[in-house]
Amino acid sequence: MFATSLKCTACARSYPLGEHYACDSCNGVLEVTYDYQAIGSKPIAETLPEPGFNIWRYRNLLPVRDEAAMVSLLEGGTPLVKSTNLATDYEIENLYLKDETRNPSGAFKDRPIAVAVSKARELGFGTVVTASSGNGAASLAIYAAKARMRCIIFVPETTPMGKVAQATVSGATIVKVRGDYSNSFRMAKETAEHFHWMNVTTTFLNPYSFEGDKTVAYELYRQFGGDVPDWVVIPAGAGPLVYGIHKGFLEMRRLGLTDALPRMVAVQAEGCKPIARAFENGTDVSAWERVETVASAIADPLRGYEKDGQLVVRTLKANGGLALAVPDDEILAAMDDLGKKEGIYAEPGAAASIAALKRMIAADSVRSD
Ligand SMILES: *Cc1c(COP(=O)(O)O)cnc(C)c1O
Ligand SMILES: [Zn+2]
Repeated sequence: MFATSLKCTACARSYPLGEHYACDSCNGVLEVTYDYQAIGSKPIAETLPEPGFNIWRYRNLLPVRDEAAMVSLLEGGTPLVKSTNLATDYEIENLYLKDETRNPSGAFKDRPIAVAVSKARELGFGTVVTASSGNGAASLAIYAAKARMRCIIFVPETTPMGKVAQATVSGATIVKVRGDYSNSFRMAKETAEHFHWMNVTTTFLNPYSFEGDKTVAYELYRQFGGDVPDWVVIPAGAGPLVYGIHKGFLEMRRLGLTDALPRMVAVQAEGCKPIARAFENGTDVSAWERVETVASAIADPLRGYEKDGQLVVRTLKANGGLALAVPDDEILAAMDDLGKKEGIYAEPGAAASIAALKRMIAADSVRSD
C-alpha cells in the first residue's frame, strides 16, 4: 500500500490513516494521499479492463494495506457502452454510457462501500453504520455480510421498501428515520460516535469511501484506450462521486498518464439542488429547504454539512466544469429514453445525467463530436 496519510482539503493538515471523519482544526473534508512517485503509472497503464476484474486491481492506489481485510464481490469493471440510438437522436457522435447497474448491488455505491468496509475491517471494527437513501443500504448490507460484520442502516422513512428489501435479506438492521436524508445522516453519525462503530456513510464523512469512487476514472482511462473523455456527466447528491472521479483523473495526471483533464458536470434535481444553486448564483452552499423530487438517490439537502457541497462547487469551478439541475419530467423522459433506446434500466437519480446532457446539447455547451 502506498497511501501515506489523510490530508485536510481545506487547511492541508495531515493525519495518520486511522478513524477520522473531519479535520480537527477546521472541520474540513479529509482525503487520502499517496506516495505517487513510488507507485508510478504501471498500476493503471498496464491494467486492462477485462470481465471479472474488480477495484482491488488498483490496490496500490487504495487506502487498505491488509490483503485479508479486502472484501470484494467483484465490484467495478463495469462496461462502457457506446450509445447508438440515443446519440443519434441527440445529434452527438461520441456518447458513452458507463453502466454502473452492473455492480453487485446494482449501483456504483459498491465501489465506495467495498473500500470503506475493508478499511473498517482493517481497523478492527466489528460493526459498520450508514445513512442511506436506499442504494448505499443495499450495498453496505451485502458487503457487511461478505465481511461477516454487523450492519446498522438509517434510512429516511420515505425510502421505497423495495430498495431496502435486499439489505434485509442480507441481515442488516434497518432503522427508519423521520424527515429527509439529513436527519438519517445525523442519526448515523451520533450512533456511530456513541457506540464506537465505524461510520461508512458515502458522503464526504468517511474519507476512505470516495477513494472507491475514483476507480471509475481509472477504468474510463483504460476503456478509452489510454485517453480521457472531454466531459463526464455525473449525478450528484452530496457529490463524492463527482469529487472522487475528479480525484482519479488528477492522480493520473500526476502519474504522467494524461495531460488533459475532463470537465466534470454535477447533475442534481430541481427539487433538491443545493450544489447547482450555489454554482449558478455564485453564492455559498446553503442547505436545501424542501426536498421534492423522484430522484431520491441524489436528493441530499446537505443540512449540517453544507461544507461538503462547497468543496464540490470549488472543485467544479477549478476544473472548468458545471453544476446544473433538471426537473423531474425531464428526468423521467431520460429514464424512458435509456430504457427504450439503449436497453438500460436506470433509476431516476442515474437518468438525471442524460437529462442534463440533453440540456447541455440544447444550450450548445457541448460540441457534437
Ligand atoms: C448515491 C447515488 C448518487 C449520488 O452520488 P453521491 O456520491 O452521493 O453524490 C447518484 N446516483 C445514484 C444511483 C446513487 O445511488
Ligand atoms: Zn483542516
